[in-house]
Amino acid sequence: MGDDPGEQPSMREAFALLGHDIRLDILVVLLDEWVAAYTEPTTYAELMDAVGVSDSGKFNYHLGRLHGTYVEKVDGGYVPTAAATALYRAVVAHRPDRARDRTQFEVDSECPRCGARLVGTHERGFLSVDCESCDDWLGFSYPFPGNGFRGRTDDEAVRAAHGRCKQHLGVARSGQCPFCAATTTIEVERDAIVAGNEPPIEIRCDSCSFHVGSHVLFPFLLDPDVTAVLSDAGIDVERYEWELPEPTTRVTSQEPLRIHVEVDGPDGTATFVIDDRLDVSSGRLE
Ligand SMILES: [Zn+2]
Ligand SMILES: [Zn+2]
Repeated sequence: MGDDPGEQPSMREAFALLGHDIRLDILVVLLDEWVAAYTEPTTYAELMDAVGVSDSGKFNYHLGRLHGTYVEKVDGGYVPTAAATALYRAVVAHRPDRARDRTQFEVDSECPRCGARLVGTHERGFLSVDCESCDDWLGFSYPFPGNGFRGRTDDEAVRAAHGRCKQHLGVARSGQCPFCAATTTIEVERDAIVAGNEPPIEIRCDSCSFHVGSHVLFPFLLDPDVTAVLSDAGIDVERYEWELPEPTTRVTSQEPLRIHVEVDGPDGTATFVIDDRLDVSSGRLE
């Protein structure tokens, strides 16, 4: 009855498999033991004992239903599949926590356009930072699991989300989706590079829904060549991206695309050149 004609269960079937207490117990036992790929498999006897089912026919039936999708048989016993562990991590990352829900909070940073104190929100798995006093700044918004607020103040959570975005942009720029590991496609919008407010860089995953729009500097804030030249210009690269001096950009060649980027700091002007694959060349201080 699935949508897929092959052996792969449809998403509907995969979720439906979880709808039974014995099957959930089996998964919980396996996931409790699981640390990483080197986790010792749980033997058939251990598993049956931990789940507390004495009827082996019934136990075999439910174990069999999970087999392939959530449970794998290896030498010495059973382990959760990558899908089971990924699902487990997603549920842990995004589990609702009403007591800690912080839908709106002050951020220790100012709007780069009007100087007003910024406001943070956390909704549907996204942490956003916006200015409520002007419409001139596009703001910051990035996927951030609610779990990221545990053990952190609001400002620490914003720092963490910003750092996460920076890391992910670095990985995505190198051609890999930070969420699903598939290849990425980079688009540099030439007109937006010069005109201004819209994010001129877009990186999307060729497989999942990862899609991020970025200003010019953000994908390069972990690039050693760029951070070195920015630091030489006296710019603190650890600050929020929106607190850095606004870069000036100039398209110096259309084919192949070359964009000259200049950032003014207290100790000089950092310059570097990027291409349509977001590779960097000739970083220097002027
Ligand atoms: Zn503002
Ligand atoms: Zn992806």
